[in-house]
Amino acid sequence: MTIDEAPREALRSSPRDLLRWVATGAAVSRADLSRLSGLSPSTVSQRVEALISQGLLEETGAGRSRGGRRPRQLAVPTGGAVVGAIDLGAHHARVGTLDLSGRVVRARTLPVRIEDGPEEVLGALLAEVSALVAGGTSAATGDAPSAGVLRGVGVGIPGPVQHATGRIVSPSRMPGWNGFDVAAFCADRIEAPIIVDNDANLMALGAHRTAHSELDHAVYIKAGTGIGSGVISSGQLHRGAQGSAGDISHCRVVADPAPACSCGNSGCLEAVASGAALVTALREQGVPVDDLTGVIRLIDDGDLHATALARQAGRAIGEILAVVVNFFNPQVVAIGGRLADCEPLMASMRATLYERCLPLAIQTLLIERVTTGQDVGITGAAHLVIDHVVAVN
Ligand SMILES: [Zn+2]
Repeated sequence: MTIDEAPREALRSSPRDLLRWVATGAAVSRADLSRLSGLSPSTVSQRVEALISQGLLEETGAGRSRGGRRPRQLAVPTGGAVVGAIDLGAHHARVGTLDLSGRVVRARTLPVRIEDGPEEVLGALLAEVSALVAGGTSAATGDAPSAGVLRGVGVGIPGPVQHATGRIVSPSRMPGWNGFDVAAFCADRIEAPIIVDNDANLMALGAHRTAHSELDHAVYIKAGTGIGSGVISSGQLHRGAQGSAGDISHCRVVADPAPACSCGNSGCLEAVASGAALVTALREQGVPVDDLTGVIRLIDDGDLHATALARQAGRAIGEILAVVVNFFNPQVVAIGGRLADCEPLMASMRATLYERCLPLAIQTLLIERVTTGQDVGITGAAHLVIDHVVAVN
C-alpha cells in the first residue's frame, strides 16, 4: 500500500460503502466486503448485521460452495422499501421511486410551470411520488403491484439550496420561490426524511455513482436552460460551507457586449452560455425561437447565427471550466443537460480547455458527456436519501 492509499481505505469502508459494494454487485458475501474494505471479518459482520436489522441488506439463498458449508449471499432488498425522488426542471419534472440500490422502479415525466409557485408545483409532485409508492414495484420486476415502504424523498431544485436548512436562496427564473423552505413544506406532507439539494449536485451524484464511482475527483456541468456544476471530491459530493460549491452560473466571462444578468451584474456565464441566454440572444437578432428546443433544432440545421452563438457559449463554459480544472485537478469533467448534445458548443468548449489548462491538469483529464440518461437526476436524489438513511442508522 502506498502512503496515498491508506486514508482512502479508511474513507471507503463506511456502512454506506459496504451497501454500495453489495448494490453494485462488487461484493456478494462478508468475505468480499472484508477484502474490499480492508476491515476485519468481525467488524464487517457487525456492520452487515446492523444493515440487515435496518432493512437495508438481506441474506438470500446460498452462494457457491467451496467444499464446506455454503455461504449465504448478501443482497440489497429490491421489493418493498423504496426511495422517492423528484428532479425539478424549468419546464418538466422527473419523478420516480427507486430501490435501495439506486435502481429505478417506476418513473415518469410531468410538465410543470415553475411560475405557479412552490406550493402548487411541489404539492403536485409529492402527490405523484405518493401515487408511485402506492403503485408498488410492478414496472421493473413484473411482480404484482404492492405498496412500498417509503424510506425518504430526495428533491432536486434548479436553483441555489442552503444545504443545512433545505431553503432556496436567490434563484434565477423562479419567481415566488426565493426563501422558500422546501424541506419543511415536503416534511409536512410526507412522513419520511426529506433531503433537498440543487439539480446540478443531483446530476453529479447520479452520474458519479453510475458511471465513475471508481474515480475520486470529478466535475459535472449541467448545461440546460440554466447552467451549474456539481463537484465530487475524494469520492464525496462537495457542497462547501453553505451548499453553493460548484455554482458557476454567475462567474464572469469575457463577452462583448456583456449581456445583463438576472442577478444585477453583467457578463455572467449564465447570461452568455445557458440555454435561456441562447434563446434571448437569437430573439434579439430577430430570429423567432420559442425555447431551447427551437435553438437546438436551428443548430442541428446548420443555422449560422445559432451555431455562432453555440460556439461562443462553448468558449465561455470552457473558460470557466479551465479555471475549475486548474484549481481542482479532477480526473473527469462530464457535461450533461440538453446543451451537451450541441456539437459546436462541445467542440469549442473542449478546444478552450486544451488551450487554457495546465499541462499537468489536462494530460490525463477525461472530457465526456454525461451518458446516464434522463434518470440521472432522480438516481442522484435517491443516493442522497440512501446515504442519509445509512448515515443516521
Ligand atoms: Zn449573474
